[in-house]
Amino acid sequence: MIAFKQVQKQYPNGYSALKNINLQIQQGEYVAIIGLSGAGKSTLLRCINRMHEITGGTLLVDEVDINTLKGKSVRQFRRNIGMIFQSFNLVTRISVIKNVLVSFVPEMPFWRKLLGIFTEQQKKQALMALDRVGILDKAYVRVDQLSGGQQQRVALARTLAQNPKLILADEPVASLDPVTAHQVMDDFRRINKELNMTVIMNIHHVELALEYANRVIGIRAGEIVYDGAAKDVTEAV
Ligand code: ADP
Ligand code: ADP
Repeated sequence: MIAFKQVQKQYPNGYSALKNINLQIQQGEYVAIIGLSGAGKSTLLRCINRMHEITGGTLLVDEVDINTLKGKSVRQFRRNIGMIFQSFNLVTRISVIKNVLVSFVPEMPFWRKLLGIFTEQQKKQALMALDRVGILDKAYVRVDQLSGGQQQRVALARTLAQNPKLILADEPVASLDPVTAHQVMDDFRRINKELNMTVIMNIHHVELALEYANRVIGIRAGEIVYDGAAKDVTEAV
């Protein structure tokens, strides 16, 4: 599904954040990317959805060389990728279900979204996504009344409603307390298993990565220093 071939990423200031990355990820994998702050985890993730452009090598997603995409095709490409951030990125003053609805129908005219005109089918899809992450009962609550863990689940539901093939999560549990972090990690695992969605997650919390992911990739100073099953990771990483 994803193939990095000698990928490099140099920032405009000359800093090489990724050096010769070779990597293949198959549909349905649950991959955790671990490494110290500044190792290049965010950069790697952001190259996959073209938030960053690579400066060397080739990056294939679904057999498409994503460096060749331009304008409208970049936007179309991004629609098939769910992105989850540490900071949730929700509109906190509106209800949970509205947050899910406004983002999962990109082809809908903006004025319809603004007026909150959604079809029954769209509402059903949004409610199903909320149900899958266990917050159906919060559908009509304002986001700012929810805990951090619940907000991250809203973000996850919003992503699920888009029905992406791939979810990229950048430190999704970093701002959550340990118990909530486990619950959210569990949601990711369930989604990965039940929907066969590929999950690639940056996580600095090594124990959580080992507990939940099937495969762990360790990055240090822009290079892959470990790539294997979570159960085989040693203290070397
Ligand atoms: P991580 O996610 O592992 O913390 P990042 O991918 O955010 O690491 O950053 C990798 C390295 O690239 C860091 O040294 C960071 O300072 C540098 N970096 C990130 N973004 C930029 C940028 N826009 N310009 C220059 N350097 C950057
Ligand atoms: P995060 O690790 O959560 O992505 P950072 O504080 O590392 O947050 O980065 C915030 C923003 O600043 C990002 O857009 C990143 O690309 C940019 N950035 C990070 N390090 C540098 C750097 N050394 N020079 C320029 N921009 C940077």
